[in-house]
Amino acid sequence: MNRLAVLETLLGQPAPVLEAGHVWLVGAGPGDPGQLTLDAVAALAQAETLVHDELVDPRILALAPEGAERLYMGKRGGRPSARQADITAALIEQARAGRRVVRLKGGDPYVFGRGGEEALALAEAGIPFRVVPGLTAGLAGLAAAGIPATQRGVNQAVVLATGHAAEGADEALDWAALARLGQPLVLYMAMRRLEAIAVALLAGGLAAETPVAVVAEATTPRERVLVSTLADVTGAVRRAGMAAPAVVAIGGVVSLRGRLRPG
Ligand code: SAH
Repeated sequence: MNRLAVLETLLGQPAPVLEAGHVWLVGAGPGDPGQLTLDAVAALAQAETLVHDELVDPRILALAPEGAERLYMGKRGGRPSARQADITAALIEQARAGRRVVRLKGGDPYVFGRGGEEALALAEAGIPFRVVPGLTAGLAGLAAAGIPATQRGVNQAVVLATGHAAEGADEALDWAALARLGQPLVLYMAMRRLEAIAVALLAGGLAAETPVAVVAEATTPRERVLVSTLADVTGAVRRAGMAAPAVVAIGGVVSLRGRLRPG
């Protein structure tokens, strides 16, 4: 039985149809194929062109038909990468050629994934598209490490933020305000600026002993978890040789890991 037929059996209803000339922006989740949604699997099964970036796990790319054209358009901080304009141009060109296009992104396309920018470009070009949400690394990656995003009695909010914005840039965050908020922070793309962020949060009033977890390559065979404190995390990360992709969780929920570590 092919994958779509299996899905339809599971769902008890027809799988969504990816039409010729349409683009689906699909979230691939943090890595483990088991964290794909059924719609994401349906999209992959119908892909004629697969446009993906570096964060998508090879086990997931393997779910598309062998004959599907694979266009690797990586984007990764600090390395030569495809320009966003080239990526959207490729999506539009493939759709206009009448292909069934899957734009596969790590995590959720609309969470720090530039999916919104690509969707806007498709809308402006008149290309029909839809978004298939995925599990975002900042939540699913924490769960994999035994850390709940919220816990009654511990926090009433959780802030998903990017650590990437350059100091002084328009989109730079007010770290002191986030420190004052007193709610856990979950940072994406924060590894290169971790030291500056920790310093800013400490200056903003967060306690030196605030627990911090760094979860790298969550849900993949290479997953690593480091637990430290705000004062010590930069040195600990350096000593452990941990690098992107990683999410950084800062706040009381991190302490629950001791009791909730996955078996
Ligand atoms: N759209 C993605 C985020 C893209 S930004 C999502 O929703 O998850 C890229 C950042 O995501 C990385 O720098 C890292 O902070 C995080 N990330 C993505 N996959 C990850 C993984 N498997 N483990 C840890 N962090 C991950």
